[in-house]
Amino acid sequence: MIKSQPSPRPLNGQRIEDTIIDLLEEDPCNENLLIQKLQTNLFPNFSETQLYSSILKVLTSLDIPESESKEIWDDVLLNKIKLSECLGRPVGFRVALLDYFTSQNQKIKNPKIIELRLFSETEKLILVDELTKLYNRRHFETALVREFKQSTRYQQNLSLLVIDIDDFKKINDTYGHLMGDEILKQVSNKISTSLRMEDTACRIGGEEFAIIFPQSNEVQALKASEKLLEACRSIQISGKPVTISGGLVSFPEKVNRCEDMYDFADRALYTAKDSGKNQIVVYSNEKRSSLRFEANLELFCVLPNKTVRSISKNISITGIAFETEDDLSLNDSIPVLLRESESTHEINAKIKVIRKQKIGENIYSVGAEFIELSSESQTKLSDLYLLHQFKAKSPIGVGI
Ligand code: GH3
Ligand code: MG
Ligand code: MG
Repeated sequence: MIKSQPSPRPLNGQRIEDTIIDLLEEDPCNENLLIQKLQTNLFPNFSETQLYSSILKVLTSLDIPESESKEIWDDVLLNKIKLSECLGRPVGFRVALLDYFTSQNQKIKNPKIIELRLFSETEKLILVDELTKLYNRRHFETALVREFKQSTRYQQNLSLLVIDIDDFKKINDTYGHLMGDEILKQVSNKISTSLRMEDTACRIGGEEFAIIFPQSNEVQALKASEKLLEACRSIQISGKPVTISGGLVSFPEKVNRCEDMYDFADRALYTAKDSGKNQIVVYSNEKRSSLRFEANLELFCVLPNKTVRSISKNISITGIAFETEDDLSLNDSIPVLLRESESTHEINAKIKVIRKQKIGENIYSVGAEFIELSSESQTKLSDLYLLHQFKAKSPIGVGI
């Protein structure tokens, strides 16, 4: 996706809210210096209106659209001058702000005065899960909407991963709830340490987590998700790795509405669970199951240094599932040749690996999408489908 503008993200990784509070504590009365410091040192990518909007949010908890923030900021400064003249002594920005919002703009009807730091700590308590110290569901919902708005506005990619620990009930039942809690903490720790500063990790349910990857396309997010899964596998109970399944969806590749993001990622997670767990499945909006059939075709994957032969398990007009001893990389594009044993009819295509699961020592179950399939090959596949349907009478719907 083309980036039309640089992303407004902090240079020091700190949340802008925390930086504003730090600067306000340093010098509570000098709002010009505050803007200057924010703009020159810490948030050079932020526009002036974004900074006004962020400061007003910290001071009032109001969501002021950036388009209105400059006007309000200027009105408050004007109010500050007027009040200072009336009282015959300097009036602070916050007093002027309170007067402005209660008497002129009237967005605040019944204000309460509270120490900023205390409010900020309380706010964090409301948004952070106590056991894992990750953000909770409440934060996840607002963060996703915010990141989605940001992604559409700046034409940037956004990905969402929803993960769920496999067979967690069994862990609880076998080793007790305290051990279950310990595993939740360790998994959360792995999640936090394997992510970038700008990613947001949340515990959204018992053993379910969501990770928002801003400015990440499907391929980048998939790599990060795989890394995360691998990190979690290093957690072991009685010598067995803890495994996790995940569903991934990316904007704008597969989704274009914020409301659909969680739903689609969750559907992909369901597919991951349904097709053996311990894997990430990328959400796919294609309706493939109607044309999927069991077929043991010979499949030759043409890799850069060798050609690997395997047998397909099931196949559809959009994808293929097979087992292989080769550790094919996710998202790799691989030229393939498909043929029925002892038949001369061959189908040439290119596939992309979208799912991979280790099912034994040096054996992987792989799901791949056709990314190049000529119309001639499509016709051959449809013919094969009809033939198999005729033989088997009914198609099956095994997940790719
Ligand atoms: P699947 O692989 O399909 O995800 O199966 P599962 O056993 O992981 O999933 P299931 O939904 O059947 O069980 C989830 C369990 O997680 C049940 C619940 O008791 C446990 N759980 C939820 N929250 C907590 C928690 O905070 N601590 C502990 N120890 N267990 C929890
Ligand atoms: Mg589970
Ligand atoms: Mg669950």
